[in-house]
Amino acid sequence: MNDLKDRIALVTGASRGIGAGIALALARSGASVAVNYRERADAAQQVCADIRALGRNALAVQADVSVAAEVSRLVADVERELGPIEILVNNAGIAIPRKLEDITESEWDLVLNINVKSMFLVTQAVIGGMRQRKWGRIINLSSVAAQTGGAVGAHYASSKAAMIGFTHSCANAYVKEGITANAIAPALIETDMVTANQNASPALIPMGHFGAVDDVASVAVMLATNSYMTGQTISVNGGWYLT
Ligand code: NAP
Repeated sequence: MNDLKDRIALVTGASRGIGAGIALALARSGASVAVNYRERADAAQQVCADIRALGRNALAVQADVSVAAEVSRLVADVERELGPIEILVNNAGIAIPRKLEDITESEWDLVLNINVKSMFLVTQAVIGGMRQRKWGRIINLSSVAAQTGGAVGAHYASSKAAMIGFTHSCANAYVKEGITANAIAPALIETDMVTANQNASPALIPMGHFGAVDDVASVAVMLATNSYMTGQTISVNGGWYLT
């Protein structure tokens, strides 16, 4: 598949899990990919090596995407080394499983900053270029937590619901400019985030088992290649929530 040949993508939080799977799937479809990470440089470099083995360009960039100055540096580095960002996947996220009574103010702020503020900062940093070129794809990793409450807590569910509102706002704002914005709402995909969460059991899933990273990555590729779908939230959830 070469549908994304010569396109340039940035995937936030792509050192492992769903982000790494999306980065590789975009590369398999022809894109050059910037692999953002926060801490695990070795893992990010391995994802880049796997992308280069496919014959595509790749760049690993460390940045905490909840910090505006780091986002500015991230976008500048990617655009200097790979070119203008045409596909943005807002994937970086954290989950801190907690009952409502136990969520501290700092945990609330941390989850909202990393899951929501990052999406605002990175999207704002790339939207001007997408508008100039009249082409762009924005793909936001929401969650079943936005739809059912999920298995993490009120802070996480709130952050993932905010991502859907942001997606709708972007879809409306740029609908005439060749830019689409969509969300993916997964559950429960077998990654570090899920295996570390004692509340995340396959028993929650009607299909009876966790999903694989590629189940989500294939939807991200579809959203990157499709030009007529915008403002949608695509569920990938083993039947947990039916839309
Ligand atoms: P994961 O395995 O925990 O991986 C998280 C990734 O995000 C890592 O690459 C991590 O980088 C990066 N990251 C975390 N904070 C960051 C920050 N401040 N700046 C830059 N990168 C940061 O998570 P996952 O399960 O793949 O989830 C990916 C996304 O899908 C998240 O938004 C999550 O909420 C969403 N989601 C996941 C599921 C699921 O079932 N797994 C379900 C619904 C939604 P380092 O490796 O460097 O730490």
